[in-house]
Amino acid sequence: MNWNRRMHILVPATALALFPLATALPLASQVPSTAMPTVESTRSPAGDTTALAKEAEGWLADLIRIDTSNPPGNEQAAAKYVAGILTKEGINSEFLDLAPGRSALVARLRSAAMPDPSRALLLVAHMDVVGVDKSKWTVDPFAATIKDGYMYGRGSIDDKGMLAANLAAFIALKRSNARVNRDIIFLATADEEQGGEASIRILIAKYWDKFAAGFALNEGGRVILKNGKVEYVAVQASEKVPVDVAVIARGPSGHASVPTKDNAVVHLAAAVEKIGGYTAPVRFTTIVRRYFEQLAPLEDDELAKWIRSLDTPDRGEHAQHVISDTNPLWNSMLRDTIAPTMLSAGVRANVIPSEARAMLNVRLLPGDTIDVLLADLTKLVNDPTIRFEVQPDAGLAAPPSSLESDFYATITKAASQEFSGAPALPFLSAGATDSAQLRLHNVQAYGVSPFPMTDEDSRRMHADDERMPLASFDKGVDFLARIVTEFAATR
Ligand SMILES: [Zn+2]
Repeated sequence: MNWNRRMHILVPATALALFPLATALPLASQVPSTAMPTVESTRSPAGDTTALAKEAEGWLADLIRIDTSNPPGNEQAAAKYVAGILTKEGINSEFLDLAPGRSALVARLRSAAMPDPSRALLLVAHMDVVGVDKSKWTVDPFAATIKDGYMYGRGSIDDKGMLAANLAAFIALKRSNARVNRDIIFLATADEEQGGEASIRILIAKYWDKFAAGFALNEGGRVILKNGKVEYVAVQASEKVPVDVAVIARGPSGHASVPTKDNAVVHLAAAVEKIGGYTAPVRFTTIVRRYFEQLAPLEDDELAKWIRSLDTPDRGEHAQHVISDTNPLWNSMLRDTIAPTMLSAGVRANVIPSEARAMLNVRLLPGDTIDVLLADLTKLVNDPTIRFEVQPDAGLAAPPSSLESDFYATITKAASQEFSGAPALPFLSAGATDSAQLRLHNVQAYGVSPFPMTDEDSRRMHADDERMPLASFDKGVDFLARIVTEFAATR
């Protein structure tokens, strides 16, 4: 397919009827500013998805226009919209109510009268998005503006792009009338960004039998686009565990005109500085070891040399420095990390406060424990006026998904066919996803964010002017439809 040729954007009539005030999309978008490769992909079992992808662009635009900023979420509005699309395809769906205005949505394509959950494939995406600072955006974050080959909007990447692409893959299978050899379940979740009252944890507790599955596709991976070419497909099979920790300094309060050495603000500042300079030891999880093994041949000779030395007795330590400094994400994959994120102290400029607090966002490698890390930090800070307090609602460590499953093999094969032989690498994501909860329920969940994106594009997730390159979106729809059809359709 030709990546530079842009087609008309089709907006379903119902979408316009639902959102009469929304500005209509331009008839033709422009060539994306990012260079897109010309790729001859192997014929997909899902057939030609060009028209479907255009349709899905319309769904994505409509979903962006439904503001699901969390809090409060209001995911029910998005769930209703998706239910409407499914109804038109003759697919029943069911709302799974979680809280007022907050529902998940589930739908199923059946393989047999009696479902076998252990074989079922779950397509998951979340409907909520993080909030915006409108003043920092160059366009309305909820208008789905198309400019320079991008669709702008909060959630265009995280995670409404995946939601629209999952919907497309699901509908493609329905329209194909193919016999399926396992149930395919479409699930739109709520409250992923906050993990609170309407999160997947609650959803599983209340409604597990509605979507129990042996395999899942979710966000969390990446298709790495570099120099106009897909370098590799990162398939998330594991993720780090988020834990928030408060650092609390206490001291006597008093008049600021007579300073003393036990000022809580000063003690806290010194502690935060030490913590900021701390580097946790490297530990290789199975997934990370495999990732670097497969990455080495893709990188230039110099970098490959250091990657191959990572776990050697003589050069390991230096190699770990080089690799960690080259890419902050690699650093995060190799060790526990700590990012101080919030500071609070004081009520008046002339009052020394009795307490000062900092918040640390800790990301543990699965298997590491917060107690061990805090013991290290306590020694490092070495200050009796400071204590650490682990906050509630920490993430849970889940076992990694298998790299030997049939589904992982299908994803690997589809990646290679879709992206001219690009390899799939198992990936541990620094960020948390709903997959940890699924893995704790014996689901082989894989993160495949299917859209080829440069680092620059990916970094706009959660940031100002988040935007989806439309050529990448179309390619992602094709990739997802290929994976799902390959895994579930009987030929
Ligand atoms: Zn997300």
